[in-house]
Amino acid sequence: MTLKDTYADGKQRLEQAGVPEADLNAWYLLEYVTGISRAAFYADPDREVTKAQKEQYEDCLKRRVRRIPLQHITGEQEFMGLNFRVNEHVLIPRQDTETLVEQALDLLKAKAVPRTEQKCRFLDMCTGSGCILLSMLFHTRYPASGIGADISEKALAVARENAEVLGVKADFIQGDLFENVKGIFSMILSNPPYIPSAVIETLQEEVRLHDPREALDGKEDGLYFYRRIVEESREYLLQGGYLLLEIGHDQAEEVSRLMHRAGYSDVRVKKDLAGLDRVVYGRYIK
Ligand code: GLN
Repeated sequence: MTLKDTYADGKQRLEQAGVPEADLNAWYLLEYVTGISRAAFYADPDREVTKAQKEQYEDCLKRRVRRIPLQHITGEQEFMGLNFRVNEHVLIPRQDTETLVEQALDLLKAKAVPRTEQKCRFLDMCTGSGCILLSMLFHTRYPASGIGADISEKALAVARENAEVLGVKADFIQGDLFENVKGIFSMILSNPPYIPSAVIETLQEEVRLHDPREALDGKEDGLYFYRRIVEESREYLLQGGYLLLEIGHDQAEEVSRLMHRAGYSDVRVKKDLAGLDRVVYGRYIK
């Protein structure tokens, strides 16, 4: 079978199964299996795929029809221009979360962030794949170090692997939020679970069944982790240090209020590329 026919067949099967963006999915899976770029595909669409490639493509399509996320099939997701390994034990990094990292990098550039021993120290609470911490450490031009914390040992194994693959030095610790965190930080960043438990059932299958539930579930009103992180972070921030939180698009008001009440100042909301409220941040002055 040719590349062109293999792709057309894949696209049709995903469409029939009601997979969203069937054409893109069929393409990415073909690229994954054959290693072929789009340019090479168009240069020679009549090239034959090997039997092994065809079989592997079949297998990928079957998994995608079962709504296994594309990223669990290919094992990777791009975030902040870097390639992160992912599996079923971590939340797949979302583009929305780049808003959080970009805001943090902007604060660093503006030199608004306190340092300790000449270094910026980051804490990524609920680090999952490590995407926030590792992209911060990768992209900042300033001397920096950081810790990623997560309750899931299996998630931390993925984060450690990502650190190694990206060649970024970082520490990862297991614990229930701040349970095992030691030290003091320039910035605490977090994309905690923030979906109200009852809403999880309404999400698309890929998310509901394949992202780890503990990475999504913000308990009854979705705010459980914000309450704890806002309160407990104060003890771990340098004077004037920043807390940056990713939020659901309808949580800006409540999370800002939590931060004000806990004594943070300069509390601001930042929108994502879709124009939705996505990040709340502020600094803590003791
Ligand atoms: N920090 C990770 C991310 O933003 C994981 C977040 C989570 O598990 N809630 O992708």
